[in-house]
Amino acid sequence: MPVQDIFSGNYREAHEKFLRAANEIGAATQTFSMGFDLDSNPLFIGAAHFGPPGANKLVIIFSGVHGIEGYAGSAIQSQAFPSLKQLAEAENIRVLMVHAINPYGMALGQRWNADNVDLNRNANSNGLDNTTIDPIYVKLNSIINPPHPCGFEDFEEKIKTFAQQNNLDQRRIQSAIMGGQLQNPRGIFYKGLKLSAELAKIFEYIKEFDHDNLDCVSVLDIHTGIGDKGDSTLGTLFSLLSTDENEIAYREQLAKTYFCYQDNKYKHIIGDMPVLMGTTAAEIRVGGQFSGNLAYAVARCFKEAAVSSFVLELGTGPLLHELYTLINANSVLTFFPEDFKSMEDYQKSPIMQELREAFYPSDEEWRESVLKRGVNVCESLIKFSGAGSLIQPITR
Ligand SMILES: [Zn+2]
Repeated sequence: MPVQDIFSGNYREAHEKFLRAANEIGAATQTFSMGFDLDSNPLFIGAAHFGPPGANKLVIIFSGVHGIEGYAGSAIQSQAFPSLKQLAEAENIRVLMVHAINPYGMALGQRWNADNVDLNRNANSNGLDNTTIDPIYVKLNSIINPPHPCGFEDFEEKIKTFAQQNNLDQRRIQSAIMGGQLQNPRGIFYKGLKLSAELAKIFEYIKEFDHDNLDCVSVLDIHTGIGDKGDSTLGTLFSLLSTDENEIAYREQLAKTYFCYQDNKYKHIIGDMPVLMGTTAAEIRVGGQFSGNLAYAVARCFKEAAVSSFVLELGTGPLLHELYTLINANSVLTFFPEDFKSMEDYQKSPIMQELREAFYPSDEEWRESVLKRGVNVCESLIKFSGAGSLIQPITR
């Protein structure tokens, strides 16, 4: 099949391709109703489950927690079914694919859900950290949540001037913006005051698997956006999941063995993420932090199993440009809502098209490359998990 045919042009097509590919390998499928798009078409989170029924290891692969980013993850999942099925049998591992966690965002081509919530900041919304206010986000508010869209150069200039005037480096600003926030419910990277319906459904479903006497679970959450076009970054959450230095080192070594290949376009950074995912010193080293991410929260759904969590970021271009597309899209949706009443309004909006292109590039070279790397990471995850019985369970 030509590469472009593996990728989908809209949510419905992606959902159907996923279920068809799952059915072709005999996976058990389920769909969870998640409301409707603007033209009253139904939306679903999809799930497919396969592998030896009695296996005590489970691999979970997610796509679409960030809406628009789900098109790449969807293509990777659908393409990976046949080889993962073979590997799952060989390694005696069960596999669970969860498709389009944020179907509304995916359908509309935006990163957030219908309530402007960033689901990858929302996963622990239990009131505990609701008092956190980053003063830098508050100061930046007029730049990052402007009442009208702006040009890229104008935005870049404003950020640079702000950084100079406040004596802040790029990473501090990045973490202030991307860390997740509660002060502006219409602003970018809003965490939401309560757990979203999408994640509530995911957790309820995932927790059913905790009754299956699993001793090893590996989680992968697929994203696009962060990183140069053609690069990929595999982030690990080991240091959040364990406090035992030896165990963290051991898992990192194991991950390096299974994920690092001699491929120049294939940059894996084990143990680091350009955006911070937690609270340890190692994470603060790379620039900021955010709580409420999905891969970590899912790991905590398992009481007995040893869990390893990964986030795959498939790069699409300069971070500042990606941020700029998010800002402009959020601005027009917030301040000109009358222009966005139907699916067609979204599709024909140049600003929404720009966001789409920033997180789901249309060129064949990028798509071919992410497909290859994404499927490869999924396959490696099964092999990693196969070796994972050596890992001691984490105390939680
Ligand atoms: Zn993302």
